[in-house]
Amino acid sequence: MELQPQDIKQWLLHANQTFQENKGYLTSLDQAIGDGDHGINMARGFQEVEKKLESTEYTNVGDVLKDTAMTLMSKVGGASGPLFGTAFLKLSTNLKGQDNADFKGFAEGITAAAEGLKQRGKAEKGEKTMVDVWQPMSEFLQAQADFSGDDIETEAKKAMETTKDMSAKKGRAAYLGERSVGHLDPGSVSSYYLFSALAEVINKGA
Ligand code: ADP
Ligand code: MG
Repeated sequence: MELQPQDIKQWLLHANQTFQENKGYLTSLDQAIGDGDHGINMARGFQEVEKKLESTEYTNVGDVLKDTAMTLMSKVGGASGPLFGTAFLKLSTNLKGQDNADFKGFAEGITAAAEGLKQRGKAEKGEKTMVDVWQPMSEFLQAQADFSGDDIETEAKKAMETTKDMSAKKGRAAYLGERSVGHLDPGSVSSYYLFSALAEVINKGA
């Protein structure tokens, strides 16, 4: 299976729908261990992404992802804007000029995105940030041979849930240290929503 520009667009529109529906939940997660703006940040940013993608015709996947990255960087407040922006920019650079994304190229793009995130946030796996979803997803996809929506959904959920027992070492939650244990990391839940929306598109196309 290959992802066409239209599939990438559908992915991000699905993601936007999830962010709108779960804005309150994401905010409550961030209220527990941060400053309570994460739901608002994601809902606003992805609404702008939808606006941009709906008003543009795309013939290659890299352009859809680049516009997404630029929109997130400029429209999402907080730490998560530049971080998600970086992830999508790395993914877009990896797929640059390609009409469609095959699995191998996409998996490599997710790896580049995870590396970019780690560099930008100076974070490693295990520090209770969105890296705890992106890094395992990068490893998981690199070990697979083709897109499988159900497996992506399962893996991303599992990765997101591991953040609950972690003590935060980066971001605002790090101020709480051990007191952050027992709470999910908001950015990891958002990252899970992204992979879940991707799984939905893959399942439809399969
Ligand atoms: P802010 O923390 O500025 O209020 P958000 O609430 O939108 O921004 O985003 C918080 C999320 O950003 C966290 O849940 C975490 O996943 C992610 N995050 C914060 N700092 C870092 C970092 N240094 N590296 C990677 N991810 C980070
Ligand atoms: Mg916040």
